[in-house]
Amino acid sequence: MCMEKTPWEKAVEFHGHVCPGLAIGYKVAEIALSNLQESRADDEEMIAIVENDACGIDAIMVMTGCTLGKGNLILKDTGKQVYTFGGRNSKKAIRVSVNGNILQGNPEMRELHQLVMEGKASPAEKDEYNKLRQQKMDDILNMPGEQFATIKEVDFAVPGKARLFSSVECACCGEYAMEPRTRNQNGKVVCLDCFDDYPRTIKNNQERI
Ligand SMILES: [Zn+2]
Ligand SMILES: [Zn+2]
Repeated sequence: MCMEKTPWEKAVEFHGHVCPGLAIGYKVAEIALSNLQESRADDEEMIAIVENDACGIDAIMVMTGCTLGKGNLILKDTGKQVYTFGGRNSKKAIRVSVNGNILQGNPEMRELHQLVMEGKASPAEKDEYNKLRQQKMDDILNMPGEQFATIKEVDFAVPGKARLFSSVECACCGEYAMEPRTRNQNGKVVCLDCFDDYPRTIKNNQERI
């Protein structure tokens, strides 16, 4: 018998492995879908602004249908476990900020994580680490939303639908780039790779003379 995969199984399949980060994204997506009363976005009914590019984003893409390619998943990389979702139908938006105790884990797990990463863990320590990790994922997936994150309704101007732009040829390398991403350099249209930016900051901590 062929059983339809559960949403969690679909997220794991897409991401490639099971990890607590994926469980965090799954939980965030579940909260978003139920609070905004939206179903998975086939088009761009839902918009997500994500503030990190870690494992959980894959679960969010699978569950909510907000994807980078469709233009309804926007990365604002502050490195925070904070997610804002807006619904075009409900005209509502929520901000989900994952609670610190979920992210920090317990000291024992952090210590074991270090040993496993350095290849210094004994088989018993590896087993213990995997057990704690599994426990953590189960906890995340089963805990009430309010215990997992701070959830607030926010004002959110849903951005316009993704626009289509024409591509123009770079006068320097000959590759094509979407027009709003190109620059004008000495009267020629060039791509960002070829554009020689006026350096206003000191790069790589090197002092310029
Ligand atoms: Zn992962
Ligand atoms: Zn170029």
